[in-house]
Amino acid sequence: MLDAILMALFLPCIGMGVILLVYMCLLWYATTHPSTITIILKPVINTGLSPSDLQKLPTITGKDLSAGPECAVCLDDITQEQSARVIPGCNHAFHLECADTWLSKQPICPVCRAKLDPTLFIPSSHDHQNPC
Ligand SMILES: [Zn+2]
Ligand SMILES: [Zn+2]
Repeated sequence: MLDAILMALFLPCIGMGVILLVYMCLLWYATTHPSTITIILKPVINTGLSPSDLQKLPTITGKDLSAGPECAVCLDDITQEQSARVIPGCNHAFHLECADTWLSKQPICPVCRAKLDPTLFIPSSHDHQNPC
């Protein structure tokens, strides 16, 4: 009789202990392998371009644009005096504000859906000098 009561008391305790142990192991894994957790979380955090990434995009004015200076974000023309951002790779241009608003939400060209790779617009000559 007493054994049964003891078992009834101990079993939930053992269960809790196992859960606690698993939890502690996960915590330990998270602290000793921070890079693994960062890789898992990265696609969630990195949805758009940061303001510093946007600054690296080439900026031109309307008069530098050749054919069809239309902004695909607001569907307005990019006039000669207006500043515009050019997406490296596909060379599509948009108003400075339109491009920044769009690209801070998703790193994709609104015209051709080209994915913006931050490595595309890192200046290769100055920032990336390789001594070898
Ligand atoms: Zn626009
Ligand atoms: Zn494009």
